[in-house]
Order: sequence, then structure tokens, then C-alpha cells
Amino acid sequence: MKKAVYPGSFDPITFGHIDLIKRGLEIADRLVVAVLDNPAKEPLFTTGERVAMVKKAVKGLRRVEVDYFDGLLVDYLKRKGSNTVIRGLRAISDFEYEFQMALMNRRLSPKAETVFMMPAEPYTYLSSNIVREIARRGGKVDGLVPHHVVAALKARLGPRRS
Ligand code: ADP
Repeated sequence: MKKAVYPGSFDPITFGHIDLIKRGLEIADRLVVAVLDNPAKEPLFTTGERVAMVKKAVKGLRRVEVDYFDGLLVDYLKRKGSNTVIRGLRAISDFEYEFQMALMNRRLSPKAETVFMMPAEPYTYLSSNIVREIARRGGKVDGLVPHHVVAALKARLGPRRS
């Protein structure tokens, strides 16, 4: 059985992440969506909130587990009994950072393999960061994130300012 880990901040989860989770399920038997517990990054949503939003977003998908982790990804992989990391590549701008992380993880744990997947085209310019920025300025994020995330963003960032 092939278990893969899809790590990230998911602050918050977007349709781009969900697209990647579905693609990941095509190549892995079981997929662990692992939310990074890193308060130093000062996320908009707490780890508990991010985990809850991911869980709700993947509710209908069997073979998906939602978890959180801190520390090194390679240590988490060992704890989960997996050697496979799934990451997304949206644009060339993602490449440099992802390349560095993948090779460093391999150095730390030679068996760790990172698989890169491209989302469907409409999601190639979608990021949690841009969603937060739009929501912060009162713009519409419907169609970019699930309904419950739209509601959570509204609750956190307040109603639309005129
Ligand atoms: P991180 O802080 O680890 O980059 P993110 O939640 O921003 O966490 O992203 C987690 C992973 O999901 C990364 O590999 C990122 O490239 C990928 N990802 C984020 N948004 C998208 C998207 N719209 N399409 C495909 N992959 C994405």
C-alpha cells in the first residue's frame, strides 16, 4: 500500500489544494494531508482551525487522512511510515523553493521522494496568500475556496467594507 503525505500550511485550504488532493489519490492508496503547525509563521487561522477546514473540505473523499505536524517533514514521514511527499507546482516561481526543499529532504532522508503535480489550469494562479489578501480587502473569494472557508474568512476578517 502506497501512502503519501501532502504537507502545507493550508492557511486556508483552497480549490487548488483540493484539486491536488484528488490528483494525489490517483497515485497513492492513502493520502495524509498534513497541516504544518508553525505559529512562528503567524498564520491567519490556528492549526486547529486549519485542520477542521481541511477535514470538512475532504469529507466525501475516502482514503484521505487529515493530520498536523511540527518539526522536520522527514521525521513526520518516518512516523507515518511513508517515503512519498506530494507538492504542487503552479508556476516557475514555485520551482526554486520546491527544488531546494525536495533535495534537502532527500539529503536528510535518502528514501524520501517528492512528487510534483500540476493543478487544473484555473488554479495555477491561486494561492492561500492571494485569497487572504482579497478577503482582507473585502473582495469576493467564492469559487476559489469552499463555502465554509468563505464563511470563516468573513468571520475572521469582518464584513465587506464600503
Ligand atoms: P506551504 O506554506 O508549504 O507552501 P501551502 O498551503 O501554501 O503551504 O501549499 C502547500 C502545497 O500545495 C505546496 O506544494 C503548494 O505548491 C501547493 N499548492 C498551493 N496552492 C496550490 C494550487 N492552487 N494548485 C496547486 N498546488 C498548490
